[in-house]
Amino acid sequence: MRLSRRLDKIPPYLFVEINRKIAEKKAKGEDVISFAIGDPDLPTPKHIIDTLCAAAYDPANHRYPETYGLPELCKAIAEWYKSRFNVTLDWPPTREVLPLIGSKEGVGHMSFCMLDPGDIALVPDPGYPVYSVSTLLAGGEIHYMPLLEENGFLPDFDVIPKAVLKKAKLLWICYPNNPTGAVADVDFFRKVVQFARKHDIAVCHDAPYTEVAFDGYKPHSFLEVPEAKEVGVEFHSLSKTYNMTGWRIGMVVGNATMVDALFRFKSNLDSGIPQAIQIAAIEALTAAQSEIPQRNLKYQQRRDRLVNALEEIGLKVTRPKAGFYIWAKIPRGYTAVQYTAELLDKVGVAVTPGIGYGKSGEGYIRLSITQPDDRFNEGIRRLLTLKNEN
Ligand SMILES: *Cc1c(COP(=O)(O)O)cnc(C)c1O
Repeated sequence: MRLSRRLDKIPPYLFVEINRKIAEKKAKGEDVISFAIGDPDLPTPKHIIDTLCAAAYDPANHRYPETYGLPELCKAIAEWYKSRFNVTLDWPPTREVLPLIGSKEGVGHMSFCMLDPGDIALVPDPGYPVYSVSTLLAGGEIHYMPLLEENGFLPDFDVIPKAVLKKAKLLWICYPNNPTGAVADVDFFRKVVQFARKHDIAVCHDAPYTEVAFDGYKPHSFLEVPEAKEVGVEFHSLSKTYNMTGWRIGMVVGNATMVDALFRFKSNLDSGIPQAIQIAAIEALTAAQSEIPQRNLKYQQRRDRLVNALEEIGLKVTRPKAGFYIWAKIPRGYTAVQYTAELLDKVGVAVTPGIGYGKSGEGYIRLSITQPDDRFNEGIRRLLTLKNEN
């Protein structure tokens, strides 16, 4: 059987490789603590699950969902954006809100809506792999924008060659950032809007971590810039905000032309989000957001313990203000893959090598703070046994 050549463009999914290595260890009977994957260990709040269960019993929710998403969900998303960011979103008559089957789905499909063969997407390096892979699948070309520590892990638009700018149609950004943990202020987003207008480039801001933040810091929406809606969209998600990664629900909001394009594309591939899940999402977005500060405090304590432990074993770390990830600089003399292998072999701790997120990730590893407390504590203990070695 011959598969499409398109599939040859897909590099192995980073986490599949890591999981395979971990599985090998486990098969040998070794216990591995994984700091490799960002997926909340804490459960979805009970009131959300109760709503989901009740909705599951309602026969109205057993049928195909409304293709566009429940109007009540679109309204809940718009109201949440208003109360959280003071951003006004229209829906209908214009479509500035579209629920998604998790934001990853929308991120991947957006490339197909915006790129023709030969068009360039500007992609952060390091970055979430879906931006680059979906570009390739859509037939587009990638220009990587290095995210460097000396620039606060923000892209430098001034160094992008003119020839690239001419062919660039799409720009991907992500703040609070995965994998570097960096955050962006509204000034940066203003620069993005200016840049996008000047060169006629559409912007996609991937922002699933705005509600996971520490030390009183409040991350910003790209759409807080008044003209942002003219040039782009923001992807958001219930996954990280409400510990709902398994339920698969997110949204894209902003530029009506882009939102409508994604709807037209998607509606030919999927038939919407299971309606009981949409109803659970309405509950999540409209209830008092009281679980979030407490949850963030727990993450903050883990962040501090992990940063401290990494510093004690000789890694250089910037304490992130938001998100799930610690981006740690490894000692000289190692590649990220070598250092990752050494952690796995010496102390049975799995992390992700920064190079897996792009060339500029070399020299770093990424650790996530989403393990259950007992596993997390054991992981810290194991890391600290390396203290006298470095
Ligand atoms: C987790 C994550 C997503 C995907 O979230 P879902 O809504 O669960 O699909 C998208 N982008 C980044 C950067 C992420 O870390």
